[in-house]
Amino acid sequence: MEPRVLQPVNDANKPTSNDGTPKGKKVWSLADFDIGKPLGKGKFGNVYLAREKTTKFIVALKVLFKSQLQKSGVEHQLRREIEIQSHLQHDNILRLYNWFHDKTRIYLILEYAYRGELYKVLQKERRFDEKTTAKYVYQLANALKYCHSKKVIHRDIKPENLLLGLTQDLKIADFGWSVHAPSSRRTTLCGTLDYLPPEMIEGSYHDENVDLWSLGVLCYELMVGKPPFETESNSETYRRITRVDIRYPPCVTPGARDLIGSLLRHDPRTRMPLEDVMKHPWIVANYSPK
Ligand code: ATP
Ligand code: MG
Repeated sequence: MEPRVLQPVNDANKPTSNDGTPKGKKVWSLADFDIGKPLGKGKFGNVYLAREKTTKFIVALKVLFKSQLQKSGVEHQLRREIEIQSHLQHDNILRLYNWFHDKTRIYLILEYAYRGELYKVLQKERRFDEKTTAKYVYQLANALKYCHSKKVIHRDIKPENLLLGLTQDLKIADFGWSVHAPSSRRTTLCGTLDYLPPEMIEGSYHDENVDLWSLGVLCYELMVGKPPFETESNSETYRRITRVDIRYPPCVTPGARDLIGSLLRHDPRTRMPLEDVMKHPWIVANYSPK
């Protein structure tokens, strides 16, 4: 249940004041929250457990420093993240309820993901069994289908950007790289290449099919414990991605191989559509949605 006080307000159709904050709606401030333990560290600030004082509603408060955002020139990226994420409402997408700012910081009021990062759980368990993997793949496919129906492509699906709720349900977080489809924007390729599809590392036109590729990479990583094209060097990973050089260890069962192989196709148009992923025999055999 979500309290009425925490409605997303930065609706593009609503009148806003000069600084982008909405008129005629409650403006939030830090004084509205009791701040609890730190939940994690991000590039531009920290995330804290917080409780809204009047409703006692628990949230995660992401605090970003304006100076750092400016220095790195990512304000437009944050605006897009807020704009996109605040309009998405789905069980498997982390809610962005609202945002506010003061002189030095920007605060995002986020849904609290009780069980934290999928990445950490995977590290602890090393790899997941078929049932667990099928559940996460199904939930992610479902969330991506919803995003794509709104012409939003995520472009940065990986275990670090997936959180888990109280009941172990997957929540997509981090819309920092998402865009409205289609796109030929060049992504600054920082960090790992592991989840990037051929068309993105080759810098060519891409559309929502990039998320299908990443879903295939994720399915492999959840079952195997490491992503399929991982190597010591970026240039070698690059080569393996463009050649779609996949090798399956025995823990990947034939059904899972079939699904992964249908998503990891060089030609984006031949990747299995999300509806078919959700109905894939291996998924159906291992997971039934509530
Ligand atoms: P980076 O770009 O390095 O991933 P970031 O600025 O995107 O950092 P987040 O990934 O959003 O920051 O948050 C940092 C960490 O805080 C996460 O990895 C996660 O462990 C924790 N965290 C973030 N949001 C939540 C949330 N809503 N509920 C629970 N934990 C969270
Ligand atoms: Mg992150």
